Amino acid sequence: MQRDTVIFDLIQEEKERQLDGLELIASENFVSDQVMEAAGSVLTNKYAEGYPGKRYYGGCQVVDVVETIAIERAKELFGAEYANVQPHSGSQANTAVFHACLKPGDTFLGFDLSHGGHLTHGSPVNFSGRLYNPVFYGVEQETGLLNYDKIQEIALREKPKMIIAGASAYSREIDYARFREIADSVNAILLADIAHPAGLIAKGIIADPIPHCHVVTTTTHKTLRGPRGGLILMGKDFENPFGITLKNGKPRMMSSLLDSGIFPGNQGGPLEHIIAAKAIAFGEALTDEFLHYMVQVKKNAAVMAEAFVAKGYDIISGGTDNHMMLIDLRNKDITGKAAEEALGKADITVNKNMVPFDDKSPFVTSGIRIGTAAITTRGLKENDMQTIVDFIDEAIMNHTDDAALEAIADKVNAMMHDKPLFVV
Ligand code: PLP
Repeated sequence: MQRDTVIFDLIQEEKERQLDGLELIASENFVSDQVMEAAGSVLTNKYAEGYPGKRYYGGCQVVDVVETIAIERAKELFGAEYANVQPHSGSQANTAVFHACLKPGDTFLGFDLSHGGHLTHGSPVNFSGRLYNPVFYGVEQETGLLNYDKIQEIALREKPKMIIAGASAYSREIDYARFREIADSVNAILLADIAHPAGLIAKGIIADPIPHCHVVTTTTHKTLRGPRGGLILMGKDFENPFGITLKNGKPRMMSSLLDSGIFPGNQGGPLEHIIAAKAIAFGEALTDEFLHYMVQVKKNAAVMAEAFVAKGYDIISGGTDNHMMLIDLRNKDITGKAAEEALGKADITVNKNMVPFDDKSPFVTSGIRIGTAAITTRGLKENDMQTIVDFIDEAIMNHTDDAALEAIADKVNAMMHDKPLFVV
């Protein structure tokens, strides 16, 4: 068959874009060669509906071993008793938990999307907001921080059956023990969605939800630096509290409900090539090199946030405890959309983002979100962070001047072009 040069030329173009630019999208990263190789392997050819040892297809002897290794490594990495490595994405991991823990129409409490939550935490345009009854907590306007007393009040008032802790754009530690107290006070299931900071949590750098939360979900492709995908974890399996029983009358374990929530609940065949790539990424994340990488990600973010503050940028909550920060650009007289476009012309990739109490629409926004996971994989250190902040500031100050933006792009390309995508 003829090589599809149309698509391969585009892949090459994308590779050059990734190599030449500064990737500051907080949810992105660069995977190792071996993760990439597994993701593009013959395992993509295999159907394997079911779970290891209990498949609906023949020929699963090899993928059974691969998937079991992925499960065991995920459990070791997070200190968990249960792992499901099949979710195709973070959203599908969350869908499975909703499926297992709620009935359509049930009330749950999530982090407001416009304050830092995720679509799957109750947005009206998402299944979570369309099929269930979401109520929200947010951050305080003055501090940009969660107020746990207020979350407690909302929980007592609304009596949610599930509470979600976790965010797409919150740069501070989350008090999972306090969330558990709140959940226990209303008999709610507590779900932590650690899609963003999973790598930092796995290496003990920030607070660990596993001892406190009933269920934990994550993506595998952000700070965890694996292939695109999802993962469900439980520190300890337990009997479901919803009165769902087996044929013999005994309560079903939560692990069984979560497994069913993925397959057959909302997925068919698992992506065994991606599960192999996840297994490799979990193996990499178990090493000391990954610990050093995560320490550097956090250091880089802290230094970058300080440099932004020194230049008069308004970082929500004043700084960061993790890999990312949210910048309110209203005092710089530029929208998130205009900043994203100008930075794009300078070969610096960020995403526009709502800030808490934003007065602009999600298509315009007042802010941008920035993360350090990807640039740290490319080997950038603290001293590079000031240079990047200078580039960003110059681009924002000259956002209508295409020649100035092109000149910044030249400097960015000179800095990045010879650095491989995956260095540390
Ligand atoms: N949960 C959170 C907190 C996220 O930030 C994201 C992705 O950005 C997801 C879930 C969903 O992940 P995916 O894009 O893999 O569906």
